[in-house]
Amino acid sequence: MQLKDTDLFRQRGLIGEAWQNANSGKTVDVISPATQSVLGTIPDMGAAETRDAIEVASRALKDWKKKTHAERAALLEAWHALMLKHEEDLALILTLEQGKPLAEARGEIRYGAGFVKWFAEEARRIGGSTIPSPTPDRRILVLKEAVGVCGIITPWNFPNAMITRKVAPALAAGCTVVIKPSEFTPYSALALGVLAERAGIPAGVINIVTGMPAEIGGELIGNETVRKISFTGSTRVGALLMRGAADSIKRLSLELGGNAPFIVFDDADVNLAVEGAISSKFRNGGQTCVCANRILVQSGIYDSFARKLAERVAQMKVGPGTEDGVVIGPMINAAAIDKIERHVEDALSKGAHILSESNFVPAGQQYARPLVLGGATTEMLIASEETFGPVAPLFRFEAEDEAIEIANGTPFGLAAYFYTQNLSRSWRVAEALEFGMVGLNTGAISTEVAPFGGVKQSGIGREGSQLGIEEYLEVKTLHVGGL
Ligand code: NAD
Repeated sequence: MQLKDTDLFRQRGLIGEAWQNANSGKTVDVISPATQSVLGTIPDMGAAETRDAIEVASRALKDWKKKTHAERAALLEAWHALMLKHEEDLALILTLEQGKPLAEARGEIRYGAGFVKWFAEEARRIGGSTIPSPTPDRRILVLKEAVGVCGIITPWNFPNAMITRKVAPALAAGCTVVIKPSEFTPYSALALGVLAERAGIPAGVINIVTGMPAEIGGELIGNETVRKISFTGSTRVGALLMRGAADSIKRLSLELGGNAPFIVFDDADVNLAVEGAISSKFRNGGQTCVCANRILVQSGIYDSFARKLAERVAQMKVGPGTEDGVVIGPMINAAAIDKIERHVEDALSKGAHILSESNFVPAGQQYARPLVLGGATTEMLIASEETFGPVAPLFRFEAEDEAIEIANGTPFGLAAYFYTQNLSRSWRVAEALEFGMVGLNTGAISTEVAPFGGVKQSGIGREGSQLGIEEYLEVKTLHVGGL
């Protein structure tokens, strides 16, 4: 690994001020998706180390929540500056462990750092309110206080930004955290821990427990000192955590799976729609929760949209994320490849056909071939499950109502996109879509300034924006009498 600052590559967990191994001494290998070689190891920690981390976070909470908002903001600003200063190293670590092309990894580092800056600013704006009293001798105040120790559980597809999107508002609000990063991509989290230390964030405010999920997750969810869990990942694990949280009535934020429709109406700007489909479908090799999973195209524009999309996809270069010109990196693991192949075979067996495929795919176990499939229908697996790969299935439709019905015909409700130039259709469709986020004539919907989150089985709560910090704040009402 050609890092300028080799100290950023840590292979130990962080509990308080100590970078630690597992009590058992056991480790888990972290595998490069591009080469399948071992990048390094992480401690295989369990319930005991997680309990220690929660205890340390609980002790650190006492001082951290008493700091002024400006003091916490200054420390977050320092952390943000260090992330930008080390952008190249952080991006390289991200690409090596996760696979995405370096240009995208740099983008993720800037996006991730954006949350830290945003919530440093929001820290100064945590305010309460006063309520006019029903009697003259009383005053009523509404105060906002830190929730407490938070468990942060993150996925592999955005190993940097999914952490800062949670940790920055938690710290800004006065909470301390125990992070459990994905076992596939732990090094981005650990590098963020190094930079937090250097920024002067006190020991114990950020703790990072690494290893296999069941024991660590079980302790985080079961331990009564943890007052909140913020999770991004699959709906299956989200439901498991929600059940576990019931016993100690924990607060929960859940950012779960999606099945985004991407609707192109006859009156769309076809070039804009193709651009949007490319960025929404193929970013991160199609491994994003908001990525277009079902591309619904109206009959009148179907042929021209399909042709233009097919031309672009045929040119996509697949390969290691560190190689120049690569736009699609390897998939995260063999299971991801299996799922993509299962979806494509199922679609082809039920009448879909390949409209286009990339001709620039190297040999290698974990490279998926970017594809455009024509003739997709709602009976196919590709319509009901997240494919999480570079496969664009096109569904033909005739009428607006039909498109809305197909789009909403899923238990998920994270992101949806549609393209039209017609003003009244814009409002009609935007209001009819049952999703937490809608892109109208754009495939770009992720920014720290806007609420991010889903409805239905895509989750609970919102991250980013002014709402993001509320997830880490409790409301205390103070009644003052005898005046
Ligand atoms: P996953 O649910 O398998 O894992 C997510 C995290 O949960 C990992 O850290 C994993 O180790 C941990 N985990 C697994 N089992 C656990 C358990 N029993 N207890 C506690 N933690 C456990 O998801 P993934 O494969 O890493 O990520 C892909 C999924 O995440 C997709 O479904 C994607 O749509 C979703 N996602 C959603 C968003 C969003 O903002 N809504 C963003 C990114 C990814």
